[in-house]
Amino acid sequence: MGDMGMMRDLLLWASQNQWLRNRVPRYRFVRRTVARFMPGEELSDALRAARELENLGLATVFTRLGENITDAGEAEAVSKHYLEVLDRVRGMGLGTEVSVKLTQLGLDLGPQVCYANLKRIIEHASADSTVWIDMEASNYVDATLQLYRQARQAYPNVGICLQAYLYRTADDLASLIPLGAAIRLVKGAYKEPANLAFPRKRDVDENFFALSRQLLSDEARAAGVKAAIATHDRKLIRRIAELALAKGLSKDSLEYQMLYGIQRAEQLRLAKDGWRSTVLVAYGSYWFPWFMRRLAERPANVWFLARNLFVG
Ligand SMILES: Cc1cc2nc3c(=O)[nH]c(=O)nc-3n(C[C@H](O)[C@H](O)[C@H](O)COP(=O)(O)OP(=O)(O)OC[C@H]3O[C@@H](n4cnc5c(N)ncnc54)[C@H](O)[C@@H]3O)c2cc1C
Repeated sequence: MGDMGMMRDLLLWASQNQWLRNRVPRYRFVRRTVARFMPGEELSDALRAARELENLGLATVFTRLGENITDAGEAEAVSKHYLEVLDRVRGMGLGTEVSVKLTQLGLDLGPQVCYANLKRIIEHASADSTVWIDMEASNYVDATLQLYRQARQAYPNVGICLQAYLYRTADDLASLIPLGAAIRLVKGAYKEPANLAFPRKRDVDENFFALSRQLLSDEARAAGVKAAIATHDRKLIRRIAELALAKGLSKDSLEYQMLYGIQRAEQLRLAKDGWRSTVLVAYGSYWFPWFMRRLAERPANVWFLARNLFVG
């Protein structure tokens, strides 16, 4: 394993560490670094950012940070929070969608609890607004897909994230295509063993492209699949745009999604070129594991963090 791989493993280990989680967020230099990836901890910060992004031609998806809730009341409170988000978004005339983590909606407490919370959010969203479901670590993939299928049978406006680093994803995607699913394709952000996920980045990237081809296939088009390509990888973004155009697809046959604060210039370029370009805006106080995953994606961010230790 190279130095980068070791750094990634270390950061992903840290993301799960309770001791660090309780202490690290207190440091000012850490908070300053987090500000690069989040407009703020409050919903009002995210709403302000969404307005600014919309003025620049960018769409938005909101996610409130948090995961693995083990108390039914808390999970219900998260779902109520998203109802408020949808109301505030509507009130401001924004087109913002939401993305939820099922472990935040009580997946660890059982599928029924989780589904009740999810259902409420989907029913509250406008019919033309997709409620996205994040994909978490591999031990949750089966349960997440099962709940997604249940939701998709009942509602048209629900989407699911699939991770290109997992070997199983090509089969999962093939089984979701006939449902006319909305699918957000990502590389995958968790620490997974080599028997489940491609260990080499090059293979993940190639699989991402192969899965995009599957997402843009005639069969997927005919079934009404909605494709969201969620990556900052400019080479893949270009290859997939070329693939879509070579197939004669229009620019609204897919959307690109990226994270707030990452590759802003590319987000704007895509919008200017006529693609739907969406920014995922995260907010909330529980940002430590999420932030560690962002550092793991790009170890250079650790230097950015270190620099903030010494400035101002
Ligand atoms: C909208 C959206 C939703 C997501 N939802 C999920 C999900 O539900 N489940 C899940 O497992 N993962 C999710 N992810 C994260 C994803 O799995 C990757 O970890 C993340 O997008 C980084 O991979 P990449 O595709 O950008 O490619 P990479 O090859 O990692 O990055 C390509 C280039 O993008 C830039 N870049 C990438 N990440 C960063 C960063 N953190 N900081 C600065 N520059 C960076 C760098 O220039 C890098 O060279 C999501 C990502 C996005 C954009």
